[in-house]
Parts: sequence; C-alpha cells; structure tokens
Amino acid sequence: MVPKGRFKEDRQRPMNLNIKHTFTEELPADPVSDNTRRQVKEACFSFVNPKQTKAPELIHVSKDMAQTLGVSEADLYSELFTKIVTGNELLPNTKPYAMCYGGHQFGHWAGQLGDGRAINLFEVEHHDKQWTVQLKGAGETPYSRSADGLAVLRSSIREYLCSEAMFHLGVPTTRALSLALSGDEVLRDMLYDGNQAYEKGAIVSRVSPSFLRFGSYEIFAARQDHKTLKKLVDYTIQHHFSHLGSPSKETYIQFFAEVSNLTLELIIHWQRVGFVHGVMNTDNMSVLGLTIDYGPYGWLEGFDFGWTPNTTDSQHKRYRYGNQPNVGLWNLYQLANALFPLIEETEPLEAVLESYKTDFESKSLEMMKQKLGLETSEDKDDLLIKALEDALLLTETDMTIFFRNLSNFQKGDAKHGLKIIKDAFYKPNEVSDTIAQQWRDWFERYDFRLEKETLSDTERQSNMNVVNPKYVLRNYMAQLAIDDANKGNYKLIDELFQLLKKPYEEQPKYEKWFAKRPDWARHKVGCSMLSCSS
Ligand code: AMP
Ligand code: MG
Repeated sequence: MVPKGRFKEDRQRPMNLNIKHTFTEELPADPVSDNTRRQVKEACFSFVNPKQTKAPELIHVSKDMAQTLGVSEADLYSELFTKIVTGNELLPNTKPYAMCYGGHQFGHWAGQLGDGRAINLFEVEHHDKQWTVQLKGAGETPYSRSADGLAVLRSSIREYLCSEAMFHLGVPTTRALSLALSGDEVLRDMLYDGNQAYEKGAIVSRVSPSFLRFGSYEIFAARQDHKTLKKLVDYTIQHHFSHLGSPSKETYIQFFAEVSNLTLELIIHWQRVGFVHGVMNTDNMSVLGLTIDYGPYGWLEGFDFGWTPNTTDSQHKRYRYGNQPNVGLWNLYQLANALFPLIEETEPLEAVLESYKTDFESKSLEMMKQKLGLETSEDKDDLLIKALEDALLLTETDMTIFFRNLSNFQKGDAKHGLKIIKDAFYKPNEVSDTIAQQWRDWFERYDFRLEKETLSDTERQSNMNVVNPKYVLRNYMAQLAIDDANKGNYKLIDELFQLLKKPYEEQPKYEKWFAKRPDWARHKVGCSMLSCSS
C-alpha cells in the first residue's frame, strides 16, 4: 500500500533517474513564460510549474510502474517522492511543461484545448524505453481556459485504478504511478445542476511513452501552421515509430496506417472487455493507440450496444458501446485531414481508412470467436455470433459473468447451457419461455459448431479464460472505494488494486467481486451516471 518512511536516510534519499528532455529540446516552445490563459501559437508546449499544495499525502503507489521507470522501492519511501508526485518539488534539471493541442468534441471542432490540468514533469529512459511522467490536477496552465487546473479525489481514484486494471487486462493504456491527496479543497458541480460543493483535491501521476493525441496534430493543421505540424510529426516518427525510417511522404502515410491499426486494435480490446470510454473526442485519442484520459468511462454490466455511462452524452449517445468502432474511424478521418498538408494526396489516406473498415470486420469476428473458444473457421461463424448478440439483448445479461461462465460449457450438453449462464441474468423472472427457448436454440447451434473443433472442453476453457476476464472494475466497485476514501479509508483502493492485477485468474478470496451490480447501484450517481465533472 503506501510506503511509510522507515529510516531517516530513506526519507532524505535523492531519486536517481535517467532523465531526458526530447520533447522540450526538439520541439518549439511557447516563448511566453508567464502562466496566463492564452492561445499559444507555433509552439508544441508551454513551460509551467505545478502549484504548491497545502498538505500532500500519498494514498497509493503502483510498485510495478515504479520499477518500470527505475524508481527503486527505497525511493518510494522518501518524502521527496511524495513531493514530486504532487508537484511540490521538482527533480534537479527538470522543467515541467503543458502540451498544446486542439480537438473535435462531440463532432465539432473546439479549437485550442491543451493540457488544462496536466503538467508533464520529465521524461525518463529506462531499459531502452522512453516514458513521460505527468501530473493530473496539479494546477492551472495557459490551457486551463475557464477551469481551475485541479482534480478531485473521486475522478482520480477512477483513473488510478482503471488505468492499472486495463494494463493487467492486456488493453493498451497510459499507466498510473501514484495517487495522492493535495490537501486542498476543490469546488465542483458534480451533476452540472447548480449544486456546487467542496471536494477533496487529488493528483494522479500518470505515465506513458507519450501523451500526444490526434488533437496535437489537428491544432497545427487548423491554424495552417504546416511548419510546426511537420516538426511534430517528424518528432513522433523518430521517437515512437522509428522503425518506419526517416521522415518522408511515404513514412507519413505509413505512420497514419500504423495509427489506424493501433486505434482499431485498441477499440477491439475495449469491445472484448466491455469498456466504454465515454468521451472519445479527438483530444482524448492517443496517437500510440493507448486508452487515455479516464473520465466518465464505464464497464458494461448488462450487455447493451446502446449504453454510455456519460450523462453529458445521454441524448445522442455518440460514445455508446456499440458506436466506439465507428467513432474511432471518424476520429481517424480528422487525423487524416490534419496530416494531409504533409502528404497532399487523398488516395493513400482513403485507402487506410477503407482498410480500417474491412479489418474491423475481420478482427472483430476473430475476437468474438476467441471469446467463444473457437479456433477454426466456419462459414457461418458470423451468424452464430449475431444470434448470440441478439440473445444477450433479450433480457439484461451481465457481459462479464456470461462469457466467464460460458467456458464451463461441455460439448454435447446443450440442454444444460442455460443453467451454466443463468447467473448472468439480472431479472431471472423476466426470462420467459420464449426467451429460454431462444437461448436453448442458441446453445444447440453452439454445441453443433463445437463439434468442428478439436480442443477438449478443458483446453477450450483455458483459452477462453485468458480473453474473458473474471474481474473488471465494475462501476459500483470504484464508487465503493471512492465513498470509503472520502471518509479517509483507503483499504478498498488497495484491495481492488491487488484484485485487478490478475483479472483472468480465479482468486477465491475475492470471489465476492465476481458478482452482478447490486440493485442499489442501478441508478446511483457515480455508478451508472457520470458527468465530465472531475
Ligand atoms: P477532457 O474532456 O476531460 O479530456 O478535457 C477537455 C479539455 O478540458 C482538456 O483541455 C483538459 O485539459 C481541460 N480540462 C478539463 N478539466 C479541467 C480543469 N479542471 N481545469 C483545467 N482544464 C481542464
Ligand atoms: Mg482529455
């Protein structure tokens, strides 16, 4: 959990990291140095210092992440570490900065956005990998617009737990290093209904090879600043896609093709585990294909293509579960437009976008087949999957429990199929004879299809259990941890953190978390209803 300083010398220990400055040394900086809100032109970032906070207190650290960065366990015990990850002290020779970017929000160009409350502390190279460490909620920057640059405990817990959980699920993501209280109070109108209240301020230190977003490129294209656009694309290729070789028109096209593939793969992972990002604006799309900016995200409980956790989007549901693949493509169109001035040809960009569509069909089918434990290919596999999706929509059916329990199916035993998965039904009384019959029909088809497979039941089960998680961060679980933390109790944060390190494994001592959403959480704020307020 939280390392406590055991020895005096531990607390004084300096951190010895392999610090780099590639972003700030190779890209143009904002020449203005005061921290006033403004349009920043012809620059990729502005130097800015984090805010001093009243009473920084470490709540949790990810030891895995620390190790990956070369932060030793002893470092974690130091007072210096807490000060650094809350922005109260800087490592020698580091110069924090906020990045300039724009974005399309809910389908409309929103102009300059930028790191309004994120501050990059430094880059670290460890074991030949480049990382950037960034604070979220550490105070205002030139990009804060009308907001305060701060973050509250509830949204920080959600980002901290979920980003590490995603990593362990094998879903590409930014990571988290630490979760801390700032000691300051932050005023928020959680439901945007005029009821403001003070909440505990918090800071997450998060980590990624890069925090560049689609919007990082869009801003320069929108301003017709092709010179800075080129510098940023060249930098990105050199540091994050170096296998593509030296920058040229050809490499720019290949770069776009890679971003398209990475984005597609990311979204297929989201669909596999039932994750709904909630705000897939182009400023929240990582150019490395990572899940980034955990806001009003949520996990599917009842399988439902139309579900979104984000109440700000409840009318049009643009970012609903079933629409994530389309939005990924829409966002890639925006990136294509942004890169066009460097390529000046539409065909190769259009060809990439076309292949997103066909690759989506094939990769999505492959992913669903894995969830069903099918190794071989048969003509009508897509129909079997479509029939399953139809059945899952008949009555509210828990996605995670359904797929996990499906692995208990035994060949030749279709008549017991329904029994195996019935725990996934939220309203068992609603399962009419017609619904039950539709399920029995589906199990007959599944069983018939399994005859074409050579794997034994046990082999199929172990294959299925590495793609169908047993434990995910259900919306109500995060909320329980938040409720406790607001009262000063952080035990549940640690319990969920430990649980979610092994999402695919049976963990008998945590079996209680393999359960449907309790009824009290169905319409509770924070569980099924989240806003962008954070
Ligand atoms: P989001 O939709 O949360 O990713 O945020 C969109 C934009 O608003 C980004 O530029 C954020 O940096 C900015 N933003 C969100 N919350 C705050 C805040 N509390 N203070 C300053 N900027 C913020
Ligand atoms: Mg964002």
